[in-house]
Amino acid sequence: MDNTRGIVLQRFVLKLNAGAGIAALRTFLIFTSLAVGGLFLIIQPAGVAAQQSGSTDHPSYLGQLERYRNHTLEHFRLEEERQARASRLEDSIQLHKIQRGETLGGIANVYGVELASLAYWNNITNPHRIREGDVLHILTVEGTLHQVAKGDTLTALASRYSVDKQKISDFNMLEAALLEEGNRLVIPGAKTLTGKVEKEPAVLTLASRGGVQAPVFRWPLWGTITSHYGMRAGGFHFGLDIAAPYGTVVVSAASGIIDYTGVQRGYGLMLTVDHGNGWSSLYAHNSSLLVSEGQRVSAGTPVAKVGASGNATGPHLHLEIIQHGKKLDPMAYLP
Ligand SMILES: [Zn+2]
Repeated sequence: MDNTRGIVLQRFVLKLNAGAGIAALRTFLIFTSLAVGGLFLIIQPAGVAAQQSGSTDHPSYLGQLERYRNHTLEHFRLEEERQARASRLEDSIQLHKIQRGETLGGIANVYGVELASLAYWNNITNPHRIREGDVLHILTVEGTLHQVAKGDTLTALASRYSVDKQKISDFNMLEAALLEEGNRLVIPGAKTLTGKVEKEPAVLTLASRGGVQAPVFRWPLWGTITSHYGMRAGGFHFGLDIAAPYGTVVVSAASGIIDYTGVQRGYGLMLTVDHGNGWSSLYAHNSSLLVSEGQRVSAGTPVAKVGASGNATGPHLHLEIIQHGKKLDPMAYLP
């Protein structure tokens, strides 16, 4: 966050300096032309007297001075217009440096943008595969961001996004029709083409479950289900118990970041994985842990070994799937 703010501040100061410079230069030139003009008025009568002629012709340098002044003012007008366009372009994209523990869904929420759009603007096909320190581009104006790919042309982009070619060129202040690969172009007024992201099942799997996006879960180990989620003797069971031999490797059920590792009463040696969008999974009763907090894991990354720590009568994994603090039935999410 600090770094992002640093970048923005730096840009702001640069802009401020450029603006102040222009204003100062203009003041100087206007003052100079007034001074020269004043000097001319003082000198002129003497000149006329010396010529001893009644000529009313303007000396040519007065015209030159006038042209010079007009030219200078026109130059400033164009320069100001260019600066305004540059500011608009610069302000249209905000940068966000990803901090530890942040998820793409969370960042999208903070900026009030669609997760799919944010992913598209940054060429992210798997929202769970973002790294701490990566810088995200966030569009703040209506439209979408397009990262120039090899072979892209203005004409092709215009037709792809149904936006006038000139509009794209103007907004992005493109000097030539040549597009630089990897550059991000603002496509003003365009809709984000989310097709690329929709192909990734991790984003939209749970569209049918009330529009809530859930990660794709896999089984964390092979074993025998010994206790289901729900009421049982002694109270409600908030997880799924899977028995397996002591030391069996437990893998992360989905990609994410290790949120917590440690010992908790009843759970024994446990860990949780943050999958983003408020989703996490919990693995309890382990004999050992293979990961540390803050570590990024994929679905299938070994995270622990089966044990009987905490309240357990034999070696088994107690698995929980949690969304925004609510413990859900893991069987509903496992394939
Ligand atoms: Zn259990």
